[in-house]
Amino acid sequence: MIISPVFSGKFYAVLGLARSGLATIDALLASKAKVMAWDNRSEARMALQTRYALAIARGDLLISDPMVSDVFGLTAFVVSPGIPLNRHPITIFAKEAGIPIIGDIELFAQARNFWQKSGKHCPVIGITGTNGKSTTTALIHHILKEAGRATVMGGNIGLPLLAATPLPDGGIYVLELSSYQIDLTFSLDCDIAVLTNITPDHLDRHGGFDGYMKAKARLFGMQSSTHYAVIATDDIPSRVISKKCPARVVTVHADNITAEEQIDWPALQGPHNAQNAVIAIAVMRLIGIDETIISKALANYPGLPHRMQRVAERNGVLFINDSKATNATATAPALAAFPAIHWILGGVPKTEDLDPCKPYYNHVKQAYTIGQAGPVYAALLRESGVAVVECETLEKAVTMAAQAARNDEVVMLTPACASFDQFSDYEARGQAFQQFVEALD
Ligand code: ADP
Repeated sequence: MIISPVFSGKFYAVLGLARSGLATIDALLASKAKVMAWDNRSEARMALQTRYALAIARGDLLISDPMVSDVFGLTAFVVSPGIPLNRHPITIFAKEAGIPIIGDIELFAQARNFWQKSGKHCPVIGITGTNGKSTTTALIHHILKEAGRATVMGGNIGLPLLAATPLPDGGIYVLELSSYQIDLTFSLDCDIAVLTNITPDHLDRHGGFDGYMKAKARLFGMQSSTHYAVIATDDIPSRVISKKCPARVVTVHADNITAEEQIDWPALQGPHNAQNAVIAIAVMRLIGIDETIISKALANYPGLPHRMQRVAERNGVLFINDSKATNATATAPALAAFPAIHWILGGVPKTEDLDPCKPYYNHVKQAYTIGQAGPVYAALLRESGVAVVECETLEKAVTMAAQAARNDEVVMLTPACASFDQFSDYEARGQAFQQFVEALD
């Protein structure tokens, strides 16, 4: 757990009591801060009663809605990135009270700035972008581990960052940062900040594309001039950001990677993974990791679940779970990676079109639409000459695709949509896909 004297004697309101909220309360209480905690879900509040009975009895923790409580002396609201700040009343309330709204990454940054002042330096690599954040984060973390470096992976991936065991001097924090997390962070000066790409996503919460781009750009705006920004300038918004960074900029391109090199990296197939790999290589070179270690680690990188994950092979047909592809830009490179695909898509659409996927329609044997976007996407695909079966449910789509697929073809769930119409999240959707594949006779 990250414990710091910078929190000691201060008073924080923690809003949102899921995993990272609980880790935040643990870290703040252990650092001798006082905490007011709240969640609209009564089960979450009840769970707190037992977990923190002692701290409540001591008066260090108060379960109360800060919007109707006395917030005199409050240092900050620490909110979960899941809270939509653009429409939540806390935004106006905090502004009027003159109290900052921050997230757990900001608390980490403050603790780390304190370490720096006391002579302990732990470099931070912060990774953001529309797609490829998790893969690039996990890949960088994997190569560092293969190189024998002390490292922790956190942020938008894995365990909550404040729950991590602190690294010794020189240990490297590798942080995946969503735009929501960056919105709540103000003093994280990354030694290396990374941008994978920028395409339209989450526009509702950022008030359009400009707002979304500005949120991403802030990660680089926080850097000092002696630090580094590694940016894949394969799209225009990323190029724009690369021109405005205060830090030293290293630009990379997906096509810096040759097809021959990529053959040796089984879990990093497709043009999108060429982009993720070229970034990881540039970061490793800045850190001074040996080239032979980098090559070996790219070859033995195991991959992440739900990202082009090979889940089964039946009768010469490969079944791939790419449930994490929640927008058309993420789906396009997955379609590019195989020549004959039975493509399962649909869910809650993020865009009205599927334009980024169009160049790869000739790889699609047949499409199987599901969920809310089903009828609209089916019509779009038919207009472009793609054969479509409207399935509505994932189960039916898997059955139909498995029946139609021939030897050497691929059945792939790469939905280009969010999952919330039919599943709790992309992981539940990916697991359901795997179960339906396993249940095929
Ligand atoms: P994120 O954490 O940004 O959502 P992931 O690494 O989890 O990114 O990948 C999400 C989806 O995006 C994957 O299913 C994959 O198909 C696609 N993807 C991965 N890397 C990239 C990239 N560099 N560019 C475009 N799409 C990508």
